[in-house]
Amino acid sequence: MKVLVINAGSSSLKYQLMEPETQEVLAKGLCERIGIDGRLTHKVPSRDLKHEADVSMPTHAEAIQAVLDALTSSEHGVISSMKEIDAVGHRVVHGGEKFASSALINEEVMAAIEACIPLAPLHNPANITGIRACQNVIPGVPMVAVFDTAFHQTMPPKAFVYALPYEYYEQDHVRRYGFHGTSHLYVSGRAAAMLGRPIEELKIVTCHLGNGSSICAVDGGKSVDTSMGFTPLDGLPMGTRCGAIDVSIVEYLAKTHNLSVDEILNLCNKKSGVLGVSGVSSDFRDIEAAADQGNQRAQLALDLFCYKVCKRIGSAAAAMGGIDAVVFTAGVGENSAMLRERIVANLGFLGIRIDPEKNNVRGEERDISADGAAVRTLLIPTNEELVIATDTARIVSGK
Ligand code: ADP
Repeated sequence: MKVLVINAGSSSLKYQLMEPETQEVLAKGLCERIGIDGRLTHKVPSRDLKHEADVSMPTHAEAIQAVLDALTSSEHGVISSMKEIDAVGHRVVHGGEKFASSALINEEVMAAIEACIPLAPLHNPANITGIRACQNVIPGVPMVAVFDTAFHQTMPPKAFVYALPYEYYEQDHVRRYGFHGTSHLYVSGRAAAMLGRPIEELKIVTCHLGNGSSICAVDGGKSVDTSMGFTPLDGLPMGTRCGAIDVSIVEYLAKTHNLSVDEILNLCNKKSGVLGVSGVSSDFRDIEAAADQGNQRAQLALDLFCYKVCKRIGSAAAAMGGIDAVVFTAGVGENSAMLRERIVANLGFLGIRIDPEKNNVRGEERDISADGAAVRTLLIPTNEELVIATDTARIVSGK
């Protein structure tokens, strides 16, 4: 079965055409600057081929058409016609409390995704636009929505209810949802496979550390707590997001600097995190380089990031009453040996110890634990597209 995986953002669209059974990626790429001008980058891994072109993309519909043209092109295509696409899997950021698993897209599901727009005003509209564009360009092909929030629907109320007046949960659905669910699901499953043990008997802390970061306590294969909350702003400090802060700061800054709530939320989302603290960049590579050259604020940004990730690993272990493995994934988690080492430096009391030699690696599955460590520390590159393709294939084949 050939599944087209679509991850539609407001002005970009990532895609992969893959065969979930063999896990082979036939082609993948990116449409950027949708609504501005339009640029396509298309890659065919088996032929080591990369094709780039300016393509007019006034809307997502033209972007999807450009993807289909690339996939069926005589020069850099991988299929002879779009009839070979058996199904499309769409990443959808917010499924609210309605979706604890992926869903075959019909008008009822679309209405439920639309109902979640107030919960994810930046993300869900773009996801919906991507789905509608696909429905127009390839009508009749079955489509599945795979939600970032779904994996966390197993959290118990004590983990997801905020200590606000309860009616705001009941009426307004204000609660912890959690995100990066497909990534936490994938890496926890791979961790169990690497350890050669059934996931049902494992307590795993998964650390998705990228531009956006979250930590998940996966007990017996189920998410029981996670650091992101009502929105992806909660929890850890990130590239540009502040993570958890005292909400009174919002009022204080509003009064002191005559700022609106929107303006403060904008600075919490886009100007904070390691960018805000370092003043250098949101990219950890730039911050590491600046810290190496003696930049004190860059050093502080790294220090507080590692400190908060370390504390969250401890709190996830406490949530489960134990820990068998800790997993590092995503851009930072997969690539920065230095940050992994600093994050776990204080966690020896839990039995987490890494081997500096084994840790000296990037982007490949590896057990980086020190010999004899009670807790295994694993490096596992995430693969959200594979989860989306596999779920899509399972649902459209009625399994
Ligand atoms: P997203 O959350 O956007 O999916 P990624 O998971 O791709 O992000 O992570 C991107 C981030 O990973 C970059 O902003 C960068 O900070 C970090 N990163 C990538 N490579 C390295 C590296 N070699 N060392 C440190 N950080 C890195």
